[in-house]
Amino acid sequence: MENPKIAAITFGCKVNQYETACIVDDFFENGFQKTNFDDSADVYLINSCTVTNRTDYKSRSAIRKALKFKAEFPQKKIIVTGCFAQREKKQIEELGAVDFIIDNNHKSQIIAYFQKQKKAVFQEAHNFQDFDEISTCSMSAKTRAFIKIQDGCDYYCAYCAIPFARGRSRSRRKKNILDQIKILTQKGFQEFVLGGINLGLFGKEKSDNYFLADLLADIEKIAGVKLIRLSSIEPELFSPEILSFMKHSKKLCPHFHIPLQSGSDRLLRKMRRRYSTAEFQRMHDNILQILPEAALGFDVITGLPGESDELFFETFNFLQNLDFTYLHVFPYSKRKKTKAANMKEEVNGRIIKTRSQKLLKLSAKKTKEYRQKLISQETELCGIVEKKENGYWTALSDHYLRIHLAKKNKLSGKLICGKARSERDNGVLIEQGNFA
Ligand code: SF4
Repeated sequence: MENPKIAAITFGCKVNQYETACIVDDFFENGFQKTNFDDSADVYLINSCTVTNRTDYKSRSAIRKALKFKAEFPQKKIIVTGCFAQREKKQIEELGAVDFIIDNNHKSQIIAYFQKQKKAVFQEAHNFQDFDEISTCSMSAKTRAFIKIQDGCDYYCAYCAIPFARGRSRSRRKKNILDQIKILTQKGFQEFVLGGINLGLFGKEKSDNYFLADLLADIEKIAGVKLIRLSSIEPELFSPEILSFMKHSKKLCPHFHIPLQSGSDRLLRKMRRRYSTAEFQRMHDNILQILPEAALGFDVITGLPGESDELFFETFNFLQNLDFTYLHVFPYSKRKKTKAANMKEEVNGRIIKTRSQKLLKLSAKKTKEYRQKLISQETELCGIVEKKENGYWTALSDHYLRIHLAKKNKLSGKLICGKARSERDNGVLIEQGNFA
């Protein structure tokens, strides 16, 4: 008899993608095989997102698609979880016969609910207490392993719905993180990306004084770990300890993704962010003083109500004077129950689009400048080789630029390092260096 099939779809951030991979792994262990979301399956899993109106819409459409399959074959099961489900459970119930709506802090229990065909207990986000320890995820067929170490956020920035969907900050236990990394190194993973909803809050709700810098030091000691990368980290959470770790680490990638959101002090205050532009500038200078060739990526939101031309140009000019590698630009999206949802002076959609394009153009210019800087300085770039493409081995480097290397020997899965030589395919051609 053929194995039962699971079709999974994920919207939103890397944390959600990681969680889907872990849930699907639980189904694999129970004899399931994977199929595409467009195909006929026994179980449909939708890990939804609510970061913008668009992701709400996409999550709803995926649920409707699964419901169509179920209308034809009622024995099929539909499981919906994630941030949209957390915020809009009633809306999902009204869409139709979804079998399981699981809250964001019980994803580890999905397989148990499914096996027992038991109605899931649905908790509101403000009641989440502990980190939901999801099973050790195998992340098959990838070179880079994402490790979730933290969930939730205590900040309540004016525009953001995430704390309502993920609850307060909760950190994963040190032992579970280190054990998972050790298991994954035995499976051949060498690069680890540490992620969370507000990563820098790791350890802050506990009393054992074990924070992100301590965890980094412990991960660095694990023999099979070759590269450690941090996902997004809030500017004010670059502690002196993290900066000092940066200075001495041999494994931490010089690549930092930082949510700036605005370069206008007035808008930063309106957004309820916890730093001023002067403080952000100081953090930027500190990082580049320690690692002058580091890749810095910033998130920027444009179109918050009240963002006049003058305030937008404050952001634009502030950014122009920073040394960064790329921007992630987010057009403001109004989210229910947030402070910003009641703000006056909404910005016209066309203006938001023009401002986004202007920021993206600046981003492309900075990326090019950064690439040229590394080439002119012959910076050594390292990365774990993913595949061969058009005759060149390719990897995402520690400096977040794609690197290419011409070499006959098989290099898949090897750590390569070499000096940046010239531009190639929006990345950099490196000269043969060390292989490990
Ligand atoms: S720090 Fe602010 S923007 Fe980030 S998740 Fe928390 S509330 Fe949202």
